[in-house]
Amino acid sequence: MVASPTAVRSHKTSRLKCANANCPWARSLWMRRLRQPKGLWLNEAWYCATECFEEGAREAFERFDLRPNRGKSTRYRLPLGLLLLSKGLISSQHLQEALKAQRESQAGRLGDWLRQQGLVTEEQLTSALGVQWGLPVFHLAQTAGFAECAGLAPLAILEASRMALVHFMPNSRMLYVAFSDGIDFTSLRALEQILRSNTQPCVIGEAEIEEALEEFRRMARPSETVLECPNSVQELAGTVTDWVESNRAERARAAISTEHLWVRLENSSITGHLLFRLPHAGPRPQGMEW
Ligand SMILES: [Zn+2]
Repeated sequence: MVASPTAVRSHKTSRLKCANANCPWARSLWMRRLRQPKGLWLNEAWYCATECFEEGAREAFERFDLRPNRGKSTRYRLPLGLLLLSKGLISSQHLQEALKAQRESQAGRLGDWLRQQGLVTEEQLTSALGVQWGLPVFHLAQTAGFAECAGLAPLAILEASRMALVHFMPNSRMLYVAFSDGIDFTSLRALEQILRSNTQPCVIGEAEIEEALEEFRRMARPSETVLECPNSVQELAGTVTDWVESNRAERARAAISTEHLWVRLENSSITGHLLFRLPHAGPRPQGMEW
């Protein structure tokens, strides 16, 4: 675990009410102070003791969709082939040939086929994706400090969603998140919930996202542990509570990304990530038109 820039502030517990409706210590402030002086937070709820936290975690996880078959939601606009055609970057014959090659191989994106044949450059493809998705195109060279955002999310989630956190504006709490392979809205929502931030998706070239991820892998990062997701919510809540206790965490935030249940643990000086791999979500939807 490493120092967190968003370390949790200490809270006055005297006015807080335990979010566990069946809290056995609700009537005795003295008793709960003896047990857990500062209490524990899970998302926006405060619990007076680890037992209450575990109960709250179980209730929270019951509301999460932990079932398999969550897909990566990809927003398609104009078919990329038609877009490139309308910009005069490829001819109708080239488009037909690339579509045929893609159909016959049953694999690869249209853009990759066109690029492999030298018909479009990665730059042209990225800018066409920006138009197709209606999003700004981002280049790593635009922000020298992109690596500063790297520790905000676990590498396992960035890799699973092929996304890079490229810029964070602390005043507006706006996080720019770059994608090269479809926008993962589930993981964007998880980032918003865990980091209490707004997000702006943007488009980045395939080579640049790989460069960003490679740099993130080399950096010192908060600890992250990936476990298989237990079948029962009770067991899941118990495991998270054990981690909270053993890491002396004071606050946990939990959200669902496309492939993981992500729990971020914090205390006054350290942050760590606990990830539960969700049941296999099946093949990612193939955008056959791009
Ligand atoms: Zn309680």
